[in-house]
Formats: sequence, C-alpha cells, structure tokens
Amino acid sequence: MERVDVAIVGGGPAGTSAAEQAAAHGAETVLFEQGVPREDREELGPDSTDAAGMLDYWIDIMDFDYREIPDEVIHRELEATEFIGPSSSVELTTTGIDSSYPNFGYTFHRARMDDWLHERAADAGADLRVGTGVSDLETDLRASSPKGPTHTLTLSNGEQLEAQYVVLADGPQRRITLEALDQFTPPGRSSSDYLSPPEANHIAYQEYREFPPELFEEFEDRLKFWWGHMPGETAYPWIFPNDGTVARVGLTMPIGMTLEDVDNPGSYKLLRPEDEQLPSGSEYIRRLLELEYGDEYDVEEDIPIVEDRGKSKGTETYPISSTRPIDSPVGANIAVAGGAMGTTSAFHEGGYHVAVRSGKIAGRLAGTDSLENYNDVWKRAIGDEILRNVAFADIVADYEPDDWDWAFGVVNDMQGDSGDNVLISNKYTAGLDATKILAKYKKRKFTYRDGGYVQIAEDEYHY
Ligand SMILES: Cc1cc2nc3c(=O)[nH]c(=O)nc-3n(C[C@H](O)[C@H](O)[C@H](O)COP(=O)(O)OP(=O)(O)OC[C@H]3O[C@@H](n4cnc5c(N)ncnc54)[C@H](O)[C@@H]3O)c2cc1C
Repeated sequence: MERVDVAIVGGGPAGTSAAEQAAAHGAETVLFEQGVPREDREELGPDSTDAAGMLDYWIDIMDFDYREIPDEVIHRELEATEFIGPSSSVELTTTGIDSSYPNFGYTFHRARMDDWLHERAADAGADLRVGTGVSDLETDLRASSPKGPTHTLTLSNGEQLEAQYVVLADGPQRRITLEALDQFTPPGRSSSDYLSPPEANHIAYQEYREFPPELFEEFEDRLKFWWGHMPGETAYPWIFPNDGTVARVGLTMPIGMTLEDVDNPGSYKLLRPEDEQLPSGSEYIRRLLELEYGDEYDVEEDIPIVEDRGKSKGTETYPISSTRPIDSPVGANIAVAGGAMGTTSAFHEGGYHVAVRSGKIAGRLAGTDSLENYNDVWKRAIGDEILRNVAFADIVADYEPDDWDWAFGVVNDMQGDSGDNVLISNKYTAGLDATKILAKYKKRKFTYRDGGYVQIAEDEYHY
C-alpha cells in the first residue's frame, strides 16, 4: 500500500492551504479532491462556491500580503457594504478593524483564487489528485508507528493509501469528516448532532445577472444585503458586483423550513398573501429584483441571467452548514479544517479566510509532527473572528423584520454620534438602545470566552 506523511481530503481553500504548508515543511503530502465541473473552468476543480466577498482584515487573517494575490483574482474593489431592512438601511464604510488592505475589501473570482492556491500547493511539492475522491477513512489508534495513530484511506478508484496524519477539509457536507469523528465520539453521540443538525442546514442559491450599466453603478463598489425580507435564521438575499456589469444575486435560506413555521408571514416583503408554500430560491430572487427594480425595468429582459457562468447555466446551488466550530481529535493525528470544522460564519456565511488560515495551520503542524498543538494554535489565530461571528449570529437568530429596522436605526444613530461608519465596533456608548445591543454582544462574547464556542472540545474525544 502507498504510504505518505500527510493526506488531505478536499481541495478547497482549506485543503490546498494545508497541502502547501505541509509540503513546504518537507512532508510527503497528497491531496484528494473529488473534482467538480464548472462552466467557467475547463478542467475538474474544487467545488468553488462562487460567491466571493473579502473584507480588508480577512486578508490578514489568511496570513497573505495582499500584494501577493494575482490581479486577475480580484473583480471589484469595495468601498462599503449596505444593509437594507424592511423600511430602513445602513451603510458601513469601514470594518472598524485594523488591516493592511487599503480598501473596505473586494469581490473576487472564486475559481481563480482556488486555482491560485492549488498552484501554490503544487509548487511547494504537494501531490494534488483532482478527480479522485476519498470514500472511506479508518484510523488505527494502536498502529506501530512511532508517531502514533495512522489512517487508511479508501479512494474512489478502489485503491487504498496509508497516512500518518490526515487533514479533513471536505467542506460543509463533511462526508468523510463525520464518519472519521464518530470513531472517537462517546457512545450514543454522533458528530452530526453538532455539525449538521437540521436547524443549521442551509441552502445557498445564486444567479449571475447582467445589469444595465446605470443600475450596476449603484452597487459597483459595494455589497448589498437585505435583512428581514424573508423568514428564517440566516436567511437573506444579497448582490455582489462582479466583472463588467455582471453581478451575482443570491440568498441563503434554511433547508426544511415551511410556511407553517413562519409566525408572521405578512411582515416579510418577499412573501405574498397567496403563497401556499415558501418560495424557491429563484422565485425569491425574482421577487427581490421586482421589488427593487421592477418599477423601471423588465427584470427578465433587462436584467437577464448570464448562462455561461457558474455551475449550471448561470445558477449555482450549494449546501451551507452554519454551526459553531469543533475541536479536532488531534490525539488520533486528525485535524479538521475550514467549513468541515464549522468555521464558516452562521451570521454572514463568510468563511474563505478562516478556511485558508485553519488549513495553513493544520498543514504546517502535520508537516512538522506537531499536530497535537492544532486546537490551541487555530484558536489563537482565528479565535477572535470566530467569537465575533458566533456572538452576532446568536444575537440576530430570532430577529423579525421590525427588529432589523430597530437595529439599523440604532446603528444609524450611533454613526451620527461618532461619524464613523464601522461594521464591527465595541466602542459605542451612545443611547440606551445602543447600550442594549452592545451589552448583548458583550454577554454573548463572555459566554463563549476562552474557546467556549467549540461544540466538541478536545477532551471529549475517546481514544
Ligand atoms: C453561496 C455561498 C456564499 C459564500 N460567500 C462567501 C463570501 O462571500 N466570502 C467568504 O469568505 N466565504 C463565503 N462563503 C463560504 C466559503 O465558500 C466557505 O467558507 C469555504 O469554501 C470553506 O472552504 P473549505 O475549503 O473548508 O471547503 P469547500 O470550499 O467546500 O471545499 C471542500 C472541497 O472538498 C471536496 N470534497 C468533499 N468531499 C470530498 C471527498 N470525499 N473526497 C475528495 N474531495 C472531497 C469538495 O469537492 C470541495 O472542493 C460562501 C459560501 C456559500 C455556499
């Protein structure tokens, strides 16, 4: 059987970053990516979930010098983000966090960025096998290796391979991660109870649309999010500007939610009295575009779908699992990184940056025989970001349309007070409502302090 030092499952941002670091530190490294076709990539590649916004300080979290990132990766420089509530809105022009990048952020060509990370890993000497999936992983805790447990991976071509260390970076579906973790979870508990509970499963749907130039100008330097327009936790549509006058219009919504679950359907602008069930993703998008631009434009004619993009005829559908992260069973020589580990934010679905960084750390530690430090090191590197995201997600979990209007009103008042349009701040003191929001945020952060946000802690694994 073939034997390697480090095997990586999944070739998205987490997996390729892990491969680059493991190989760069001298480990014999192999990465398996099952390979997914896309309209805008000639060969099979990772499952590039092509909605890509990057905020200024996220580049520092990735631990890249922004000047390294190739120009063709960047679509648009961003100056702001706009949150639109049912009858209010708020514009934020700075994230409020120190960063080396000079602008608010950028939108990027996700497949190109993924391909760049792939190239870096190949250049570092990793063996990247795109088109070969991993179908099973078994850990031998009593292996005779002086470095402890080893793993046997069964591949989609039927072959097997043995690895000393494994980095699991198989994204939100976690086909291999869940089985691998369940080798070590206590009897009667399954990792899927934490990582894939029904209430945290979301679907993301998006379309590429060509906008009339005068309309595109309205958002060419900003991301727009509509909060409180559709029911469900972490359910909101958005527009991200791409190249030319093409924008991605998308949304996330919970899987399995029904109209009967909605307390006050009449309060949501994207629901209609005649609805017998919740609209599909494409119907929500059509309603959003009608609501925003339908008075002046014929949506289907003037803002058409661009069919040669994305995964399938200008549209893409993805699973997203929005949960809190888990510690890895490092005692079994396994690190879980990126979306598989639960780093994608349940508040705004951003996760590229934390996937890259957790992958880099996992790869470096696996490549230097020090994987036992993984849970401590990732918390030091991305713990603040995770803490912000889980705290925000908790606060807005049961917001209804009126709550969004109230919150945006408060933020606008606060900005009036400080003249400082910041996305994230804990400096606000103006007014009772502002104090209320800040107190809630601080309380959530306190509850989750010292890594308390992890859903399975390292000492809960049984070896
Ligand atoms: C619609 C949408 C919008 C988003 N918007 C943003 C955004 O604007 N900004 C941002 O920062 N983040 C965004 N995210 C989140 C971001 O895409 C994820 O956080 C990130 O992709 C996680 O990276 P990953 O490498 O962990 O997983 P993934 O990117 O999911 O990669 C996992 C890879 O593993 C492969 N794989 C799975 N199983 C196997 C197997 N058994 N064998 C071999 N290969 C396997 C898959 O094919 C895939 O390529 C968005 C996500 C979605 C769905």
